[in-house]
Amino acid sequence: MLILIANPGSTSYKSKLFETDGMKCLYQCSVERIGDKQGIVTYTFNDGQAITVEPVIEDYHSAIKITLDILQQQFPVDSIAAVGFKVVIAKDVSGCVELTEDVLDAMNEYMVMAPVHTQVYLTAIEIFRDLMPDTPMIGLFETAFHSAITQEKYLYGIPYEFYRKYGIRKYGFHGASHRYIAHRIAEQYNGGDSNCRIISCHLGGSSSVCAIKNGVSIDTSMGMSPQSGLLNAKRVGDLDPFALLYLMEKENLSIAQTREVLSDKSGVLGISGISGDFRDIEDAMLAGDLQARAAFNTFAYYAKRYVGEYLATLNSTDFIVFTAGLGQNSPLMRKTILDNMGNLNIILDDEKNNLNPSEGLISTDDSPVKIAVIPTNEEWVVLQAVTQYLQ
Ligand code: ADP
Repeated sequence: MLILIANPGSTSYKSKLFETDGMKCLYQCSVERIGDKQGIVTYTFNDGQAITVEPVIEDYHSAIKITLDILQQQFPVDSIAAVGFKVVIAKDVSGCVELTEDVLDAMNEYMVMAPVHTQVYLTAIEIFRDLMPDTPMIGLFETAFHSAITQEKYLYGIPYEFYRKYGIRKYGFHGASHRYIAHRIAEQYNGGDSNCRIISCHLGGSSSVCAIKNGVSIDTSMGMSPQSGLLNAKRVGDLDPFALLYLMEKENLSIAQTREVLSDKSGVLGISGISGDFRDIEDAMLAGDLQARAAFNTFAYYAKRYVGEYLATLNSTDFIVFTAGLGQNSPLMRKTILDNMGNLNIILDDEKNNLNPSEGLISTDDSPVKIAVIPTNEEWVVLQAVTQYLQ
């Protein structure tokens, strides 16, 4: 069976065609600079040589169309059984579902939780429906992996009727990534056994920590929206709600202006005043910039705090895993987060950490808690879920 996994970003669009028998990638295509004077389209068939062309890609419709036109050179588009998406959140809908009109309405209802991502997905789904009207569109929601989180962990301290009326509670995100980490740890580091405790740290432009017990998420740091929990690149993370009211009053901010401050001007960028990218932050910090250091240390402390919280929730842990752009590439961040936790049986091996493996253990041989770096593979999770859905 052929399944196309579509991954729309705000100025890019990536997709991969898989044969589910053997989970082989037959075609991949990345379209960048959508809306620029010149686009960049890079594609390969069957892991062969990458070909790049640079046509103008006016909009999202052109991006998806060119990807399908190239695909058509070797595979008839009508042989594709389904298109799979890693969607973010919808009111009262989670799991892996067909993206029907009702589901799209439910995504629209919670648009405010993840405006940029949800809008891009809705646009892409609409275009696919136009170009491939007979092919089912299937979405795996990022909230799905956290569906077993129990009530005392997901309720907020607001009137219960608001939880009932509007669904205001913690949902959690990065579900595909944390699920992959649970799978990979079981497969590669725990003899094929998913019965273990994992603290999974997905640290990138957007970050979350997840407590996983026997393959199931039992708590995670993001809440009702992906704007909460750890600081993100430009998004706020946890913030005292009364500090927010005070700020709105003092600066006379409207809801739209407040949203802009919280989602585009806050987080690591907000504290550092330099950038939301940790490569810039580390450079500036090493050059002596104090605000960059403050951003770095604040982020690291948030992460340490969540690791501590989940050590309590899980009654210790067997593995701590770092994944995503920052987690996989910054020995300094990993060291700062896990520094001085020997009494909690967590001992980082500085030499292994500094070698910065693309994947592997970075704890000392005698550390009771194993620390690992694992590249995430969210597509694999979406592909598995869509395949299962279609069976
Ligand atoms: P996103 O979360 O934006 O989808 P990634 O998981 O790839 O994407 O994370 C990207 C982020 O990871 C960058 O913005 C940067 O902060 C961080 N990062 C990537 N490479 C490095 C590196 N070598 N050193 C420090 N930080 C890095």
